[in-house]
Amino acid sequence: MNDKKKSAYIIHPSTAVISQGYDPALSVGSARPAVFRSSTYVFSSPEAAEKAFATALGKREPIEGENIELIYARLSHPNAEILETHLLSIEPNSKAAAVFNSGMAAISSIFMTFSKPGHTTLFSSPIYGGTHHLIHEMLTPMGYNVQPFFAGDTKNMCEKIRASKNLDFIFIETPSNPTLRMTDIEACVAEAKKHPDQPLVIIDNTFMGPAFQHPLQLGADMTVYSATKFLSGFSDMLGGVILGTNKSHIQKLQGTRALLGNILQPDECWMLDSRLPLVAMRMNRSSKNAEHIVKALKKHHAIEEILYPTEFRDEDQKKIWEKQCDFAGSIFSIRLKGGKAKAFNVLRKLELIRNAVSLGGVESLACHPATTTHSEMSAEDQKTYGVDDSLVRFSVGIEDWEDILHDIERALEA
Ligand SMILES: *Cc1c(COP(=O)(O)O)cnc(C)c1O
Repeated sequence: MNDKKKSAYIIHPSTAVISQGYDPALSVGSARPAVFRSSTYVFSSPEAAEKAFATALGKREPIEGENIELIYARLSHPNAEILETHLLSIEPNSKAAAVFNSGMAAISSIFMTFSKPGHTTLFSSPIYGGTHHLIHEMLTPMGYNVQPFFAGDTKNMCEKIRASKNLDFIFIETPSNPTLRMTDIEACVAEAKKHPDQPLVIIDNTFMGPAFQHPLQLGADMTVYSATKFLSGFSDMLGGVILGTNKSHIQKLQGTRALLGNILQPDECWMLDSRLPLVAMRMNRSSKNAEHIVKALKKHHAIEEILYPTEFRDEDQKKIWEKQCDFAGSIFSIRLKGGKAKAFNVLRKLELIRNAVSLGGVESLACHPATTTHSEMSAEDQKTYGVDDSLVRFSVGIEDWEDILHDIERALEA
């Protein structure tokens, strides 16, 4: 292979996630990164300190390849930098990343950075309970105009975008939590491009990414993850990640992070870093499990409806899913005949599947969104957005699917 061909060859994400993003020379040759727990960093000279501060405060632009010394761990630290480089390998089209100490820390930092009081932002509804709470309990009282559109309703989304003035960004969670409605990312990007304010498009990709949905390839500006879920995968840590196509957006977020003090700590960075190579394998296995389980359950007499991509009846929803995602994912919800009483009974009778919120771990979990994760929604909003009392949400893990199916079937009969 000549050099030209060599440089044109782009390795696959599954290889990049193992081979890229970490230089052993920076950790005395250690095959895995060391953990740097220091809160403060020693400067090689006062001039180096001056340069580090001027760069961190945005008074000068760093020159490509230049060595800028670390300052203080709330701004950044080696394990955050290693993880941020490593994360680029799992998100096609990403140019920079910022890590936070939870998904909500990442999402709040997005609002604090890119929306202005008096300006408008739009979000898909229903949405993760914490994000919903942030919007209604904090941002709205602070004077931010944050408006919902119907998740999955392209016409409603585009109308809202066109009608909004001083539009800073559009925040989409797709598929939606817990109703699994798919919102068309490309359609949103196309409408945003036509808007005079050039609003950013930001996707909460926690449910399908990074394995099955690639928003930055579809034109979105940023993706955000609760790394607490699939990225870390073992329900044993909190974390948040933002990836973007534009370095300056991520630098702004890192600036907000330095002020709010919500950077992911060194030990957690190290843990998350070691989980990344297996994300795609775990997600593939649990998605296949969920597909088997849904297929077996779909005619069950106790079930009114299964909310899961392979079961979409709405043609628009089917189309969005087919063009936007590679697989169906491992989250599904069921509407039970018999309302809340039946839903609670099913949760009580599950033995292998634990009744807990959260998702994306190797273990299967189930919860009742209307009274837990989405209990902050008003009764009216719950009705409007389909988060009713009969709904139970499942996150399928990597167990043997037949055992999980058996557990659900037994609980449904009890
Ligand atoms: C869990 C979750 C969040 C919040 O993440 P935390 O790590 O719990 O702060 C945001 N969005 C979605 C879709 C989630 O599932």
